[in-house]
Amino acid sequence: MWKKSVKTVLRSAGVRREQIAAARMVMERATLASIPRTTAPKQTGRILAYHSVAQPRTGVNDVSLQRFERQLDMAIDLGFEFVSALQIAHTGGAANQLAITVDDAWTSAAEHIAPIMRKRGIPWTLFVVSGWSDHTESWTRKDILGWDALRALMGGDLELGSHSVTHPDFAKLTPQQAKMELETSRDRIAEKLGIVPKSFAIPYGQSANWNAELHKLAQDAGYDTIYSQAETTAFPGTVRRTFVTKFDNRYIFKALLNGSYDRWEEWV
Ligand SMILES: [Zn+2]
Repeated sequence: MWKKSVKTVLRSAGVRREQIAAARMVMERATLASIPRTTAPKQTGRILAYHSVAQPRTGVNDVSLQRFERQLDMAIDLGFEFVSALQIAHTGGAANQLAITVDDAWTSAAEHIAPIMRKRGIPWTLFVVSGWSDHTESWTRKDILGWDALRALMGGDLELGSHSVTHPDFAKLTPQQAKMELETSRDRIAEKLGIVPKSFAIPYGQSANWNAELHKLAQDAGYDTIYSQAETTAFPGTVRRTFVTKFDNRYIFKALLNGSYDRWEEWV
């Protein structure tokens, strides 16, 4: 009730919906960082989910260049080591292991993230939305990496996975539509990049975006590693990932590595 009235007041004052959501997110993260963790520390590796670096168009998903570099430094200073997401996905990894994954293939993945990963020798995984990388919609041409740019990134310590064709909420699709999103993105990546992706990141990746039927369809489409964007609330059988937001300063990032947001979901 209280939340609703604040929202109404903010909206009537001309504050946009995204700004309200961002304000809520920053408040939640700051509050959770100050609450002592009640769950046991994670005994396995942690996979971080990033979206863009220094590409503010992605809103709360964007991390500044300076902050991104500082987060990597901080993790090393705290005793973490970076390994591939696949290593953690398949072995569980150790409590001091971290992996970097990046969703959507925003242009900053090539402009900023790839050079940093290369310079530091960190393996990483990039999840491609095939319909966006096709550049058929005008907004994607400026902001999303096309197939040539993706091809130029390949090799070394980069794994490419699928993130669907159109980035839908899978829970709202018919089984036929879901199958198409899973298979067509796989086939398009294979056609354009010459690799058949075995990893799939669920768009939005929260518990409400996935179910047993979808999981089976994804496995049938040949994906053996299916990533969420949630930790304790992740759908069983998916690989958990921790979402890093624009607001994650040193204090919040340290809390994140310590598991303070493991019960938190973004899009609820
Ligand atoms: Zn995404």
